Amino acid sequence: MSESFPNIRPWRKPGEHYKAKATVVGCFDDGFLPAFFEFIEVKGLDRKDAIILPGGAKSLSSPADEAHRKTMLWAIQTSVALHHSDTIILVLHENCGAYGGTEPDYKKELDAAEEYLRGFFPDTMKYEKWVSGFNGYRRLE
Ligand SMILES: [Zn+2]
Repeated sequence: MSESFPNIRPWRKPGEHYKAKATVVGCFDDGFLPAFFEFIEVKGLDRKDAIILPGGAKSLSSPADEAHRKTMLWAIQTSVALHHSDTIILVLHENCGAYGGTEPDYKKELDAAEEYLRGFFPDTMKYEKWVSGFNGYRRLE
């Protein structure tokens, strides 16, 4: 007998589209994922595109492989093209394995990620830079 979960359904109807309030980039580390989704909820981003890949915004600032940056860029461009997001929220988290056991200069990393993206999107695109830590989320300017 195969499993099924008939009560687990999408919120939208077939063919229905939405505008994403933001494209939110984060890391796949399960220790930080519940906080990531809580952050999205607290921010009121009921419609968003969440892009969750190892390292989160690190893929844009200091990727271990150029393919990571291209994949992340493709995902963000797709969010903007399909769901008209006008805000990109970049998140890094403390103790991220993508940094190999060292804590990076978060501001430098997030600034570099934003700078990279600015080459691909209009000046009207808005950016937010956040660090998810063991003591909550903090925004960097
Ligand atoms: Zn991570």
